[in-house]
Amino acid sequence: MTQSPSASALVPFVSVENMMKLVHHIGLTQVLKGIATYIEDDFKRWETFDKTARLGSYTDDGVMELMPTSDGLDYGFKYVNCHPKNIKDGLQTVVGFGLLANVDTGYPVLLTEMTMLTALRTAATSAVMAKYLAPEGARVMAIIGNGAQSEFQAMAMQAILGITQVRLYDIDPAATRKCGANLAQRGMKITQCATAQDAIEGAQIITTCTADKQLATILSDNMIGSGVHINAIGGDCPGKTELAEAILHRADIFVEFPPQTRVEGEIQQLPEDHPVTEVWQVITGAVQGRTSPEQITLFDSVGFAIEDFSALRYVRDNIKDSPFYQPMDLLVDPDDPRDLFGMLQRAK
Ligand code: NAD
Repeated sequence: MTQSPSASALVPFVSVENMMKLVHHIGLTQVLKGIATYIEDDFKRWETFDKTARLGSYTDDGVMELMPTSDGLDYGFKYVNCHPKNIKDGLQTVVGFGLLANVDTGYPVLLTEMTMLTALRTAATSAVMAKYLAPEGARVMAIIGNGAQSEFQAMAMQAILGITQVRLYDIDPAATRKCGANLAQRGMKITQCATAQDAIEGAQIITTCTADKQLATILSDNMIGSGVHINAIGGDCPGKTELAEAILHRADIFVEFPPQTRVEGEIQQLPEDHPVTEVWQVITGAVQGRTSPEQITLFDSVGFAIEDFSALRYVRDNIKDSPFYQPMDLLVDPDDPRDLFGMLQRAK
């Protein structure tokens, strides 16, 4: 006869539906601010983490990645892909799920969807970095690439930096119309632009979030004036970049984890020894971020495991005593831990 699993065998599972309910229950702005705070806190204790470049399995069409890390108390990982061709087939470019486990026992304590959560954490990360790197008083941002990540990017910049104007461009005008419609009535002036050049006009923050599996030139050197902050999130795997190399030589470059970014980020275009600054050092105050109004700052974002770990911690802490998860029968619990076989036999 099948036994009911004991409480210790049940793992909280957050489905896509529950993730959306959780976000609406807390409020999107509060969630973005909350995840940003967790990310900032975790970057401040960067040295306590077990860090490794993510493990990617590359194909002609995309990449599947595992992103693990641990702070000694909790262990987390995310599975995520990037398949730019998926959009043509009505599928997402990026999907993910993740897990948080207790280091003491190794038992999972949370299993969750991470497609929504990745968009939230990527946007929160962009805004945290812009807080330290963007020019003082930045109010206008451009977003080149108006796909799944784009609205989250705008909302996080509004929540954390007070952005009031967003200028949009995508090679597909339907994507720009979708993004414009989603961001209408959100307290920001939204301008839909016909070219990337038009979109960056007057913007102090330029976010590139395009998806194309090639060395693309979304921004060319002559488009970038002094003093801007570039938040480049779309160049995030080998052979996939968004910026002309000349921009990288004019910018001060800030990265998450150099061993990963050297292979995946915009800086894959540069020699191995090109100087970069690790953003955690800016956040702790050990190194200054923006040093002058004329400086071009570039956050060469590829997405690092600690950001997912922060987002997983945020979800774990916020689903406590809530209806926004289901207990999932994920772990075995035989009466005698050595009697796994007996447990199987009794389930007949
Ligand atoms: P998406 O496919 O939903 O949207 C991408 C958009 O880019 C599409 O609308 C497409 O038409 C547009 N585009 C492609 N080429 C363009 C060009 N030359 N000029 C203007 N627009 C162009 O993808 P998404 O989920 O929004 O992700 C965007 C990118 O961000 C992907 O490359 C993804 O890998 C990356 N990403 C990075 C992080 C990170 O942490 N750095 C996290 C999530 C996603």
